[in-house]
Amino acid sequence: MSETKHSGSCHCGQVRYRLTTAPMFVHACHCRDCQKQTGGPFAVNALIERDRVMVEAGVPVRTEQTTDSGRPHDIWRCPACQTALWSDYGRREVMVFVRVMTLEDPDRCPPDVHIFTRTKRPFFDLPPGAKAFDVFYDMETEWPADSLARRKAILSR
Ligand SMILES: [Zn+2]
Ligand SMILES: [Zn+2]
Repeated sequence: MSETKHSGSCHCGQVRYRLTTAPMFVHACHCRDCQKQTGGPFAVNALIERDRVMVEAGVPVRTEQTTDSGRPHDIWRCPACQTALWSDYGRREVMVFVRVMTLEDPDRCPPDVHIFTRTKRPFFDLPPGAKAFDVFYDMETEWPADSLARRKAILSR
């Protein structure tokens, strides 16, 4: 894997980062929160260990979102242009959801699954063969074994 394959930045370029490995799993999330927060029909999130996101320039700032569940949802943004770079659901600080479209080459991290398709907009058709779930899915079934092991490793730290 080339070093530059997974580099990313905000819109203005003040914050630059790099994923040091491929993500564990990639979600396309069609929930209403993602639609509201992105202004688009879905968000594409690469789930990866926080310590595999290397900030190379700038200092992202944390913004707190409200959630129905009351569970914390922090979005880390560029302080200048406010582009959302990654989310930390639950404020666990070990795993983040990187906004794939902020990567320089988003096509390297296509969605593994589409979730919350119960609120998928009718003007968007899922690609043929896409794995889609009304709400969520069973991780043990869908995640590759090595990704499950990576997740287990960070959550048991
Ligand atoms: Zn920026
Ligand atoms: Zn969502």
